[in-house]
Amino acid sequence: MRKHIFNAGPCKLSDRTLENTSKAILEFNNSGQSIFEVSHRGKDFQAVMDNTVELMKEVLNIPENYSVLFLGGGASLQFCMIPYNFMKKKAFYLDTGTWSTKAIAEAKLWGETVVVTSKDKDFTYIPKDFKVPSDVDYVHITTNNTIRGTEIFEDWSFDAPLIADMSSDILSRPVDFSKYVMVYGGAQKNMGPAGATFVIINNDYLSKVVDRPIPAMLKYSTHIDGGSMYNTPPVINVFAIRETLLWVKESGGLVAMNKLADDRAKMLYGAIDSSKMFKSPVVKEDRSRMNIVFVFEDKYKELEAEFIAFAGSKNCVGLKGHRSVGGFRASTYNACTMDDVKALVSVMKEFEEKHA
Ligand code: PLP
Repeated sequence: MRKHIFNAGPCKLSDRTLENTSKAILEFNNSGQSIFEVSHRGKDFQAVMDNTVELMKEVLNIPENYSVLFLGGGASLQFCMIPYNFMKKKAFYLDTGTWSTKAIAEAKLWGETVVVTSKDKDFTYIPKDFKVPSDVDYVHITTNNTIRGTEIFEDWSFDAPLIADMSSDILSRPVDFSKYVMVYGGAQKNMGPAGATFVIINNDYLSKVVDRPIPAMLKYSTHIDGGSMYNTPPVINVFAIRETLLWVKESGGLVAMNKLADDRAKMLYGAIDSSKMFKSPVVKEDRSRMNIVFVFEDKYKELEAEFIAFAGSKNCVGLKGHRSVGGFRASTYNACTMDDVKALVSVMKEFEEKHA
């Protein structure tokens, strides 16, 4: 029996992704070979890569003059590549938790960072009324904060070019890409398994690359020119991403994903807000729909391990909060169904009836 999976990433994927990727591992395109065994330069895999890029453009509605790349190194390598390529002197970073803090640490290697942070309240909100200096090279935001459970739901505009880490909310809502010069993330949440990084970049923005020696692997132009195949790409991941994109498309696209995200969040936050035992530490308007963070009221804190074990006994897994934060986190990405959420809500109610 498949469990109700609430892992934060790697995380639950669609049945289509799992089934068709498994088949391709056993035999790819009636070739008598596994997808693990064919050349990435062969025409069969080239067709997969081309089709995956096309589907990204179609499903996400990415404008024509943007390139879509699949790279290695995780979103964490992008924390370094972005300033390496684009930071001449100064960049603005919105610090909304662990991942943006890591991005800032990398940017500091290349110049001055202007930072607005929500650290004063333990990253439980998204700063909004802030000013960006006019002379920054770019603005960097993290649209969904996987660990703290906050999210930016709109596509913001600034005078400076906008770059967004969308690791944990890409494909959950329609995005106006024309507002961003670059969007990137680890694929291991809404897009597919761990092992690939997606980069969506405005080709015109490449004219802003800083005049400094940059190793080939760390240059965006290398990967654009090579069609994500300058070096051996993450072959199986690209295949699984294609299957996930096809699943999103056949499930009604981003409009349907957006509605599902709303429905899941409404049900789960509703249960948290009406509970005597559980509460959300995040301000209401900034609550993530992808990573629903919740904690016990203080007097029940010693029951945390018991709750995790109880949920596990009812097949609800992946609920432990990030080790840096504690409490609980239900990651409700695209493949998480209303049945998964209903199962969790009934576990919470049953536990509360026993203990509160
Ligand atoms: N950014 C966000 C928002 C994340 O959630 C994560 C990982 O969970 C990262 C960056 C780091 O991604 P990676 O492990 O692919 O480097």
